[in-house]
Amino acid sequence: MVEINIYDREEEEYTVTIDKIVYQKMFALGKAMGENEVQGMLVVDIKDRKIIVEDILLPAEQIVTGGSADIDSKEMAKMLEPYVAKDPELFAKVKGWWHSHNSLGVFWSAVDDNNVKKIVQVAGTFVSIVTTNDGKLLTRVDKKLSDGMVITYNDVTTYADMYDDAVMKWVDKIKKTVKVAKIKWPKNAGLLDVFDDELAEEGENWPPSTQQQRPIRKPTKGYKDPQHGYIPPLFASLDGFSKTAFYSTVAKSKVSKKGRKNLVRKLLLQEQEIMQANNPLIPGVM
Ligand SMILES: [Zn+2]
Repeated sequence: MVEINIYDREEEEYTVTIDKIVYQKMFALGKAMGENEVQGMLVVDIKDRKIIVEDILLPAEQIVTGGSADIDSKEMAKMLEPYVAKDPELFAKVKGWWHSHNSLGVFWSAVDDNNVKKIVQVAGTFVSIVTTNDGKLLTRVDKKLSDGMVITYNDVTTYADMYDDAVMKWVDKIKKTVKVAKIKWPKNAGLLDVFDDELAEEGENWPPSTQQQRPIRKPTKGYKDPQHGYIPPLFASLDGFSKTAFYSTVAKSKVSKKGRKNLVRKLLLQEQEIMQANNPLIPGVM
């Protein structure tokens, strides 16, 4: 079996950063059009999976309605025509399209989708952005594969670098006053091989390896809880759902110390099995 590193796969995701003037133009023009749609082509710089939207080009004229700036691929070609001869370098970077959906919400209509799939055959990689007047934005990246198939990455993470220099100066100053706490894991922590998004986010330096690991707190002995009785050592490692399952089991009938230890172990294994079933990339129970 070929091993797939989930982290490599995550790195493959696209990000789109929109120049602040372009970003403002899209929303300002969209809003100015009120309930009508409007559209333009985007000049984009594609470096691997990092895409920067550098400029927006508007056709000399465009006819729009309230429900359809749903551009025809012929119309798209017409919009691009002037740049083919005038500025071939720029033309090569016209690999994006923006349109406003006024108040209709951000989504891809069947016509949008169809046109994007046509133009990506020529463009290779194509970025589409749809905006609404209340500030919503949806980005997709379409990529033509070598066999002609098109893969669509929808809802691509999109940034707009749109803050004034003065604001950024202030941010830099404030940043120095904000301390990021480092999480210290107990020295005697054992390791359970599970995938845990939350922990990966909590501790920047954690885990050091490519495999996500969650520490099991390993107190040397359990303790007596006034309400639930004996709590075994590994109890703290259970997730909330398993903890509830433990409490309800011990409340229903008398469970011995050993029985409680076994119950915790069983619940831990169950958690791992569920996680494995949800994500086949997680290594098996050891
Ligand atoms: Zn549309």
